[in-house]
Amino acid sequence: MTEHTIVAIDGPGGSGKSTVARAVARRLGYTYIDTGAMYRSVACWALRAGIDLNDMHRMEQLAREAHVTFLNGGVLLNGEDVTAEIREPHVSEAASKVAAYPGVRRAMREEQRRIGASGPAVMEGRDIGTVVFPDARVKVFLDASAEARAQRRAVELGAPVEQVARDLAGRDTRDRTRAEAPLMQAPDAEYVDTSGLTPEQVEEAVLKIVRGRTSN
Ligand code: C5P
Repeated sequence: MTEHTIVAIDGPGGSGKSTVARAVARRLGYTYIDTGAMYRSVACWALRAGIDLNDMHRMEQLAREAHVTFLNGGVLLNGEDVTAEIREPHVSEAASKVAAYPGVRRAMREEQRRIGASGPAVMEGRDIGTVVFPDARVKVFLDASAEARAQRRAVELGAPVEQVARDLAGRDTRDRTRAEAPLMQAPDAEYVDTSGLTPEQVEEAVLKIVRGRTSN
């Protein structure tokens, strides 16, 4: 049983998870946890250290040793600010590769459960409502059309939309088809299509779900 209220927000890249999760956490006074940033930080460390991404045992070791913290909207890896670096396309690609390793996921899951046990949190990722917190009181699955998702990411990254669409589609397929904790909607999650919605509308929709699920 999860003692504290966990708001689990899952969905593919570009569905608007980070924006809404951050806003909802602020509104509720909950801790905001971006679990994608944790996988990205492990990948970033491996790339910097020149470690072979195919070496799954070494990757698990890194995942266990990585100390990822969230501070004032930024991400620290072992005390160093990696906020911008982890968003680079080659890190996104590497993150989705290392995220397929069961040992890496185990290490991340343990850390995410530890954080969730320490207080109420809004946690976003791919497997929060399905695997990390299957008993979460609130579960939301955010989605959007491939075009809308690519368009948003292209604006964020300042990159050509065609290239971003190809990268996103590749990561999506890997995230949805891996054997361990694939991206999927939990049966008891509320589905929200954000394609035609503003960030404020998504925030209101998610807050309404939170109110509905925490009112009794
Ligand atoms: O959410 P974000 O795009 O930052 O996540 C980067 C990558 O980390 C994803 O493509 C996915 O492979 C992995 N991830 C995951 N499980 C999570 C969060 C992210 O596998 N809970």
